[in-house]
Amino acid sequence: MSNAMDERGKALEDEYFRRKEREAIEKLRAKMSAEEQAKVAAASALQCPKCDGTLEGVVVEKVEIDVCNTCGGVWLDAGELEQLSKRETGGFLSRLWGSSGE
Ligand SMILES: [Zn+2]
Repeated sequence: MSNAMDERGKALEDEYFRRKEREAIEKLRAKMSAEEQAKVAAASALQCPKCDGTLEGVVVEKVEIDVCNTCGGVWLDAGELEQLSKRETGGFLSRLWGSSGE
């Protein structure tokens, strides 16, 4: 009988610690995700290398480029210039340069 009581006591104790552990993990998770979110926000809001403006992602010809909201500077990631210049007539850059025929 006393054995059964002990078992029950242990089970309750285990349950108590398991719950505490879960709470600690949940708290840790919440804290980490807040930090992760801050990191993501900081990474997506790039500062213009030329002025103190913020670079905003703008999709042109299905390519996302970064445009400064202060000086209007345009920044391309590796490969993006190639993607844009590959476009034939009516492409962003061919319009800009007025290169082909029309
Ligand atoms: Zn700028």
